[in-house]
Amino acid sequence: MNQARQVLKTYFGYDAFRPGQHEIIESILAHRDVLAVMPTGAGKSLCYQIPALLFEGVTVVISPLISLMKDQVDALEAAGIPTTFINSTHSLPEIQQRTRGLRQGKYRLLYIAPERLESAFFMELLASLTIPLVAVDEAHCVSQWGHDFRPSYMHIAASIRKLPSHPIIAAFTATATDRVKQDIAEGLQLHDPLRVTTGYARENLTFQVFRGVDKRSFLLDYVRKHADESGIIYASTRKEVEECARYLNQHGLAAGVYHAGIEDEARLEAQEQFLYDRISVMVATNAFGMGIDKSNVRYVLHYNMPRNIESYYQEAGRAGRDGDAGDCILLYGPQDVMTQKYIIEQSETDEERTKSEYRNLHQMVEYCHTSHCLQQHIVYYFGDRTAEPCGKCSNCTDDRETVDVTTEAQKIFSCVVKMKQRFGVTLTAKVLRGANDQKVRQLGLSQLSTYGILSTYKEKELVQLIQSLIVDGYLKLSDSAYPVLQITAKAKSVLLSDEKVYMKRVVQPVVTQSDYAVVNESLFEELRSLRKTLSQQYRIPPFTIFHDATLREMS
Ligand code: ADP
Ligand code: MG
Ligand code: ZN
Repeated sequence: MNQARQVLKTYFGYDAFRPGQHEIIESILAHRDVLAVMPTGAGKSLCYQIPALLFEGVTVVISPLISLMKDQVDALEAAGIPTTFINSTHSLPEIQQRTRGLRQGKYRLLYIAPERLESAFFMELLASLTIPLVAVDEAHCVSQWGHDFRPSYMHIAASIRKLPSHPIIAAFTATATDRVKQDIAEGLQLHDPLRVTTGYARENLTFQVFRGVDKRSFLLDYVRKHADESGIIYASTRKEVEECARYLNQHGLAAGVYHAGIEDEARLEAQEQFLYDRISVMVATNAFGMGIDKSNVRYVLHYNMPRNIESYYQEAGRAGRDGDAGDCILLYGPQDVMTQKYIIEQSETDEERTKSEYRNLHQMVEYCHTSHCLQQHIVYYFGDRTAEPCGKCSNCTDDRETVDVTTEAQKIFSCVVKMKQRFGVTLTAKVLRGANDQKVRQLGLSQLSTYGILSTYKEKELVQLIQSLIVDGYLKLSDSAYPVLQITAKAKSVLLSDEKVYMKRVVQPVVTQSDYAVVNESLFEELRSLRKTLSQQYRIPPFTIFHDATLREMS
């Protein structure tokens, strides 16, 4: 048995390494830098903790959240691994005591936040120690293109590279696109790092997207059914977080609240209650969770669509870290896109950044609309083309029939061409439907031969159809701030040959939001509960029901 495996067994009690771990540890032991991209829960920590036990000196771990360092340090101490951390909350005597310990070589690991490295006093301390390895956790924070940019990460390399002990640098992150990986390698000045990317697919997670459901009742219903399980509910604004929590509370379900607007103390309290299973549900903004090491989270429910797939996968990935089953549910409504657009528009960033945020958002929307396997869709996004359909996500288990939409697709493509590929999805849908719309008329689009060629469809259905055609690669949106529809080579070959276009049938609502059913008193209640089931299970938008008495009153 080699040394690393022995440490794995004696200190951590595990028999075998998980994918990537052994390779990374070997590389570190051979003094080669590492850039590891492994999904949440894959076991990144062991990759630097084991070398820390095998090297002389103290391994420095840079981690973005001081709030969670204590838990990690406690866990290591409990495993018999002398570890400490130093942060801004410590008093001078505490710091002195820890410094002394470090000088005496008492600790195997030292956890710090990146800001520590900006202190001259602290750098002096580090310079006096033997530091074989610096592990940078959540390394994507170094990239402006990632989702958690943290300026102090940019200064890590400069500080570390001048240490006399020339430590190896090992960078770890859960989610990184090629762009972010490149930024990490450059930003941390990695020298010819070993690059390890383990599969993104998390077999124990089940992904589900629900479109157009009544979010409130879905939430209540779901949390009720899973009352004895631990879960996180993410919403995009503080207001929405507060409202969701209040709604649950009103219905007798205790939920913790976490967002950046809450006092540190109360926030920490909520977090602890959740971590120690005193409350089972946490309603939070994305401020909650980076580095949260709670293994038994059974579900992560996104009440709103997040701003990009990286954030989504990172947040959703907090479910099932113990390897048991976890549900990742996303409730998608058109309002979510507006909210995210608003957030992008409000943020003061340069044009290139804004463009990229729009692109990311667009890809997130595609996820919400795709009819393909959701798990596969995500891992494709991260560049893993080998994954098979998962067989259990809400799309894989969707038994709606596949229909031939070739004629519709051809009409849509011609219309896009006739509109000179200069307009967006909504306007195109209006033209196809033949909408009596001022803008359409003003732009002279009602004169086109394709005006009204799909008039039997509702505008919303056409938007969905176009979006599916985008997802399937027939159409694409330009990279501009106001994306316009363009046709791809794939669409051209449909127009020029007899190639067919197939699609999962777009849900045909029995009645749509604007329609209503008129029924008598006795049917009313029955229909009301049916409506709830319909909207939850079959993703049919809620519709209005009047009973005839009300209608008579109204007229
Ligand atoms: P990450 O930082 O990649 O999200 P962690 O390092 O927190 O993941 O590890 C997640 C869980 O997996 C922890 O409970 C850890 O003890 C466990 N784990 C790590 N490596 C192994 C292994 N080789 N065998 C079994 N469990 C492991
Ligand atoms: Mg981790
Ligand atoms: Zn699937």
